[in-house]
Amino acid sequence: MINHIALVGGTHGNEMSGIQLIQNWESSGIPTQFSDLDVTLYTANPAAIAANVRFLEEDLNRQFTPDALKFDSPQAASTSEEHKLAQTINEQLGPKGNASTDLVIDIHNTTSNMGATLIILDTSDVYVKMARYVKQNMPEANILVEDEKPYASHGYLCTTGKYGVMIEVGAQPQGVLREDVYLATQKMAEVLLAFCVAYNKGECDDLEACEAFRLGENIAFPLNDEGNRTAMIHHSLQDNDFVPLMPGAPMFRRFDGKDVVWEGTEPTYPHFINEAAYHKLDVAFATSSLITL
Ligand SMILES: [Zn+2]
Repeated sequence: MINHIALVGGTHGNEMSGIQLIQNWESSGIPTQFSDLDVTLYTANPAAIAANVRFLEEDLNRQFTPDALKFDSPQAASTSEEHKLAQTINEQLGPKGNASTDLVIDIHNTTSNMGATLIILDTSDVYVKMARYVKQNMPEANILVEDEKPYASHGYLCTTGKYGVMIEVGAQPQGVLREDVYLATQKMAEVLLAFCVAYNKGECDDLEACEAFRLGENIAFPLNDEGNRTAMIHHSLQDNDFVPLMPGAPMFRRFDGKDVVWEGTEPTYPHFINEAAYHKLDVAFATSSLITL
């Protein structure tokens, strides 16, 4: 059963769609069709929201690894605001590994043109049913699978729950609310709550298989010997998240005018293309492969 659900906004303080949805549902109440569920609305990083920044000192959404949550670990020597906040959130929503919350739904948005994307971290039965239900009820949604490591090893806030997923919608600039992104975020949140109702009634056993994208690797911007960038995202790749990038197709435009092409032997499905939060990490985009769940 999935009864105790936490719906979280503001894990990143400049991602306005989740922050606004939580505020609106706090004042209006959660839609009545979900009254059988025990839903907690949760704002994760109020100080970052007040400052209109992603985080104050460290990315909160990387502070929930088992090591970082242990007070006596080397990572726990960190005293950043977000590190301390993670301990509090883990007490309230988790504790991780023995959670009081059945499902944590953490709402994000991205400057990449990823549309409405559900990120799952595991392909066990409940997540496959969830992915299929979302695709059936929101065909325009993308399912992104980040299962390159075990669920509990991730540093994501949502892993404080017994189950945890992220809503990731774009393109929306940081610190800005767009109507289309807000409405897609609200729709996906409602579809996920509707899934919980249906799952608890045993109604999700015969759903049609669906397409999903499995995370591959991060692709870095080309740098010169001084560590400075020598290229930008090619115009034919920009905004084409989850559109196949074919072998030999351009992915970067070098500042000397030449193109850098995708040299893989297979098409890849790029996403998080030109995501602003990854800019200083020199991450240009992530690859993925098409799978069936
Ligand atoms: Zn985020």
